[in-house]
Amino acid sequence: MRLILSILLILLVAGPLSAAVDIAPRGKNPVRLEDVYQRNGVTYVAIEDALDAVGLTGHWNSIKHIFRIRTRRGWAEISPASSYMKLGKDYYPLQNKPCFIDGRLRVTDNFVLNQLAMLTGRPIYFRNLDPDVDTVSSEETSRLEQLFAFLLNKKSKQSGPLIRAVAIDPGHGGLDSGVIASSGFKEKEVNLEVAEKLSKQLKMKLGIPIYLSRDGDYELTLEQRLKPASKEDVDLWLLLHAQASFSAEPHGVSLFIRPAEASLPTAAAAGDAAPVENGSRQLADNLALALRTAGIAVNGIFTSPLLSLGRGSLPTVQVELGYLSNPEELAELQDETYQERLAQALYQGIRSYAKSKKEKLNELDRNTTN
Ligand SMILES: [Zn+2]
Repeated sequence: MRLILSILLILLVAGPLSAAVDIAPRGKNPVRLEDVYQRNGVTYVAIEDALDAVGLTGHWNSIKHIFRIRTRRGWAEISPASSYMKLGKDYYPLQNKPCFIDGRLRVTDNFVLNQLAMLTGRPIYFRNLDPDVDTVSSEETSRLEQLFAFLLNKKSKQSGPLIRAVAIDPGHGGLDSGVIASSGFKEKEVNLEVAEKLSKQLKMKLGIPIYLSRDGDYELTLEQRLKPASKEDVDLWLLLHAQASFSAEPHGVSLFIRPAEASLPTAAAAGDAAPVENGSRQLADNLALALRTAGIAVNGIFTSPLLSLGRGSLPTVQVELGYLSNPEELAELQDETYQERLAQALYQGIRSYAKSKKEKLNELDRNTTN
């Protein structure tokens, strides 16, 4: 087991950036799983995917609420209600209970390396290709601690996810198509595609609730559109759109914040004495940097009076994903790989925004406790 762990460690350090894991019985070609979730620093994969990768089969028994795995030694059983795996008359403790995430029963890397290795009788190779394990929401403090921190009106040190939930508004929908390209491609489509891909990234890696104003092609009332952003636990709001110009020339992403926030200094620019926290500007800066790092052109951060809607202090950025009037960009915006790249970059921007917020809080905390 130690040998496998050290191999795993070496591979973890060397692994490229991607949301995926490789699993294989030793000596066989690894199978890549991309439906991977991070919860509190633990990696979860769907049990069916993991079994498939190591050559086992199993099925969910919805009446007994257990998952049964066929092995040479009989049926092994696991359940989201139990911290044990049952094999014959024996019970084996699990480090984490299996759990349902996004509609599938999932087990951890630890389960794959230990229990599945035991069931197959062979060591299993498990490689996390995503060293980007979340450090934003992993340090959960107890509910009680959070409550006390709240009662004392004092931010608890390094505690809890700094982003509790994210609201995303995929612009337009239904009869309201938004901009329509010469090819007939509609803005509402790319808005929804990127929103869903971003939502999945955030759910997989940060494990926080994501509220979409729509999850299909239908029209929304203003109230429905604003509803996700008005939820109490939402810490930031992204509105996704795409634009068009009379000229074929313009291209790239543009970011919009409320006019009032454009003139406020960011904490970084104003130093320690910054009296106002300008979350939208900070978020837009982080998004712009992440997009540029991903090789996507950013035209800049502008102001939009339309953004006066919603909770006034809620960090809010409207992202114009690109120009449907630019032929090359139109082709990209219709392409799933490019949509995924946009979503990944936006995720990275949100993540670095959360991290910078956390660092600032820790600093504040140090200053007040000293
Ligand atoms: Zn639009």
